[in-house]
Amino acid sequence: MANHTILVVEDEERVQQLVKLYLEKEGFTVDMAFDGKEAVKKARSGLPDLILLDIMLPEMDGWEVCKELRKTMSTPIIMLTARGDEFDRVMGLELGADDYIAKPFSPREMVARVKAVLRRTAAGAQNGSKVLDFNELCINYTSRTVEIKGNIIEMPPKEFELLWFLAGHCGQVFSREQLLHSIWGYSYVGDPRTVDTHIKRLREKLTQAREVCSIKTVWGYGYKFEVVG
Ligand code: CA
Repeated sequence: MANHTILVVEDEERVQQLVKLYLEKEGFTVDMAFDGKEAVKKARSGLPDLILLDIMLPEMDGWEVCKELRKTMSTPIIMLTARGDEFDRVMGLELGADDYIAKPFSPREMVARVKAVLRRTAAGAQNGSKVLDFNELCINYTSRTVEIKGNIIEMPPKEFELLWFLAGHCGQVFSREQLLHSIWGYSYVGDPRTVDTHIKRLREKLTQAREVCSIKTVWGYGYKFEVVG
């Protein structure tokens, strides 16, 4: 985990110093931002390996920062929030956050979650073959691009990871909970609606490749990626 830079976005100095102290003790390099605008600027210029992002921030809140960064970056983001309700969690997942820590949190738990997310994203990047080629549909992990009949299809990071995972396990059925765990990595049971909305968007994008492949619903269980013919 050495040589990883973590951008900590937090306006409360007490929390920020505590987080910084524990991360540095683990050998991480820590960069800090005190408001949303500064966070976007520092994320783009410093290219951190992970971002710890508080929700209640001056200038731009954490949701807006996450949304803005996800337009161009797939850097792992862990949201920090004082409100632990379902709405926040679903919203965080929808916006492309990788994990979520509710305040107050123990510094040890925070460090464990940071390491888990870093391990998961590194594992994804080293997922054996970097290209899945189904003739008309080509998924490239290295460049994070999806091509259907030669046309690049726009795909936010979580949709891409979901497609990469399903297509990489062609014909295998996964439950919503398994997909939530594999793609979003939540240790607790997440909201299955998140998976459903991502599948729906993926299907819309894959309609042009329907002669080649599709994502099938297996009633009462979940989803699978299938190659036609
Ligand atoms: Ca705050």
